[in-house]
Amino acid sequence: RFSCVEAAPPVEIFALSRSYKEDQFPQKVDLGIGAYRTNEGKPWVLPVVRKVEQQIATDVTLNHEYLSQLGYEEFSKSATKMLLGNDSPALTEGRGFGVQCLSGTGSLRVGAEFLINCAKFKTYYMSSPTWPNHRLVFKNAGFQDGKLYRYWDASNRKLDLDGMLEDLKNAPEDSVIILHACAHNPTGIDPTKDQWKQIADIMEQRKLFPFFDCAYQGFASGNLENDSWAVRYFVSRGFELLCAQSFAKNFGLYNERIGNLTLVFKDSSPVVNVRAQITLLVRGNYSNPPVHGARIVSKVLNDATLYEEWQGHIKEMSGRIKEMRQALRNKLEELGTPGTWEHITNQIGMFSYTGLNQECVNRALNLYSFYICRS
Ligand code: PMP
Repeated sequence: RFSCVEAAPPVEIFALSRSYKEDQFPQKVDLGIGAYRTNEGKPWVLPVVRKVEQQIATDVTLNHEYLSQLGYEEFSKSATKMLLGNDSPALTEGRGFGVQCLSGTGSLRVGAEFLINCAKFKTYYMSSPTWPNHRLVFKNAGFQDGKLYRYWDASNRKLDLDGMLEDLKNAPEDSVIILHACAHNPTGIDPTKDQWKQIADIMEQRKLFPFFDCAYQGFASGNLENDSWAVRYFVSRGFELLCAQSFAKNFGLYNERIGNLTLVFKDSSPVVNVRAQITLLVRGNYSNPPVHGARIVSKVLNDATLYEEWQGHIKEMSGRIKEMRQALRNKLEELGTPGTWEHITNQIGMFSYTGLNQECVNRALNLYSFYICRS
């Protein structure tokens, strides 16, 4: 009966991680999956997370009852405030709200399903290149194959703003445009504030719908406000939008699958229906989300002392990433490596588009056990 099941390609980045684990070479280096590592190359459980987990473990008032479809409200309210700002008019006017979802990916999926099934959007665009899972998530949500807008100018290793604006200009009205809120994956290049303004102008003129993907708030610059500037700016311009937030990186809660889908409308009139539709969407999918990560994040966001401590962790992680970039660039330059390497430090966040070609990547892997994505 199952001979009809076709072979499927491996997920490159997880396959890379598996090969890394199997490799016996003592100096092997894992540069694949975007997960923070300490100086010792180890995963880091944020001390504030450990602390809150210990409180949770001994709190006998907590139980394992189901959450509602839309998740833990204290969490989603705090997460939405963290994204939009405490005084965001979208929140004070009751026209924006959050839904707890399964990390960033699950938030994208619920958002995409809502857009195609309930709001009747048909087309979506993603940056070229983008995080490869955007395509699969939108496809599985029911969208036809996505279109691409230009983003990366490979010869100059910078943002191809003109190409991007031109492609957005030519996009049909009501297209969903996936935008990376900060620390673009994989290029590490974000638009400047002025460039975001130009992008917003075109999107407004062309009536395009922004769906922000915010997987790295606080992780790029170390400052939550800076890293959500683009989203807040679009809200201030009066855009209706969706934003998928992940707490995998900024809280180090990768496998807890904690995320939030924020929705902002022009006024509060669609809110009741939208909440009802998303409730059904989630009900028929995974029924309701898990609570552990939501408890951790909401405790930290709602306690001044814990919050301060977490801010310190974010600064430490983003700072260390910047130091690593600088160290890599210095070493490459010190060795007289052919080419220019400013892009290593101009890029931001966890990812670097190194400019290494296929042959270099293969050599790095085969000769030195450097595990890097082919792209
Ligand atoms: N979007 C982007 C751009 C990402 O880089 C990631 C993580 N690699 C995600 C979304 C989602 O991650 P998660 O589902 O683990 O929160």
